[in-house]
Amino acid sequence: MAPPPPSIVYRAAHGVLEGAWVDAPWVAVDDEGSVVAAGHGSDDPTTPPATTSPAANPPAAAPPAAAPPATAPPATALVRDLGPVILLPGLVDAHSHAFQRAIRGATHRRGAGDPSSFWSWREAMYRCAEGLDPQGVYEITRRAYAEMLSVGITCVGEFHYLHHQPDGRPYDDPNELSWQVLRAAQDVGIRVVLLEVLYARGGHGRPPAPEQRRFCDADVGAYLERVDALASRGVELGLAPHSVRAVDRAGLESVARYGQAHGLPMHAHVSEQPRENAECRAEHGATPTEVLADAGFFERPRGFTAVHAIHTTADDQRRLSGQHACACPTTEADLGDGIVPAVELREAGVELCLGSDSNAVIDLVQEARLLEMHERLRGQARLRLCDGDGALGPTLLRAATEAGASALGRADRSGRLGVGRPFDAFTVRLDQPFFEGVAPRHRLDALMCAGTAQGVRHVFVGGVERHALGLG
Ligand code: ZN
Repeated sequence: MAPPPPSIVYRAAHGVLEGAWVDAPWVAVDDEGSVVAAGHGSDDPTTPPATTSPAANPPAAAPPAAAPPATAPPATALVRDLGPVILLPGLVDAHSHAFQRAIRGATHRRGAGDPSSFWSWREAMYRCAEGLDPQGVYEITRRAYAEMLSVGITCVGEFHYLHHQPDGRPYDDPNELSWQVLRAAQDVGIRVVLLEVLYARGGHGRPPAPEQRRFCDADVGAYLERVDALASRGVELGLAPHSVRAVDRAGLESVARYGQAHGLPMHAHVSEQPRENAECRAEHGATPTEVLADAGFFERPRGFTAVHAIHTTADDQRRLSGQHACACPTTEADLGDGIVPAVELREAGVELCLGSDSNAVIDLVQEARLLEMHERLRGQARLRLCDGDGALGPTLLRAATEAGASALGRADRSGRLGVGRPFDAFTVRLDQPFFEGVAPRHRLDALMCAGTAQGVRHVFVGGVERHALGLG
């Protein structure tokens, strides 16, 4: 009989396994980086936890142990105690524009006569986008992704619309800038789903403004050719018509048809600003959600993600049932967009996920917390997004993990720690002042409802440690 595959067993003080909070979790990972067994507490047949930092001590061989049923790790496994930490599934950021990280802090000073708004912020962002060459795109994306990893994000959906040269002419390889994004992800070691954007016009009846030309393909056919070229090289993709403002009805229908035919996740900005709704009504006599529904985006359950979905009607929310809405609360607050009606969307059967969007803030714990807190401010009530058991931490963690994975077409691979899945995970230090005096049973709620992602200790992607913050 063949020996079991080499593996390592990771242990922690607490964790979330298969969606449930447990004490003393352990996870056995094979040499492919997949979880082959998992358990907790009394399920653990291996040695007592190590008492010193794993950074200072290489993993020790565990002695053979009596094998409990199904979940026993291989007897030959090495054991690595991660120390006083919470072990959680890697966070999934479902909506990022990596290059916008470049203007962090640069849009908070009023210019002469500038009535600062979403639209004036956008001008600053466009100026930044205009100045980036391929190497610049690589460098800023790499910086954003390295920061994501450091705060526990192991998979990101990059809503990528910077495609061509500043004057709109394609590079020799029309996917040059997409490759730069992918290279940055590869070099950092984060998973990326490239949400390739179609951007075709400045608005109804308006050609793209000069600063929008590099976002635009010659036509939908040229866009889909680029998508085909990326797919043929094995790139993990989604389709993203930027918004109903930037793509006309025929373009939307073409994208929806292609996405349904190929089973790809599809995303679009939806009702981020009231002006977008007003322009859509003037053009189509309908809301953005109605236009997308009619164009065929909602035909596949969990196939579509409405990014923001702030200024949606009750009817819009009903139409989005069975799909995702991606809230980006720190960006939405920064830009004065409004509050995502998370309570109503959830009641309508919409799965809520989270994105860092402009990347001024990169911290999905904050995004999750603000999803709930904005609803408290709006509704003047508490505990708005609890699950059926009255618990809030698990709901918020789900938004930051499993729901994002589903939105990116990775429901079976990301967002959850369990047998048969890649070991994409992160840990949060318990030996920080924040957790002093917090009872174990309150620690998940403390993190998700009062914390930030600044206490991340380890990050693993596909079983490979990508980030390790030293203690002390
Ligand atoms: Zn966005």
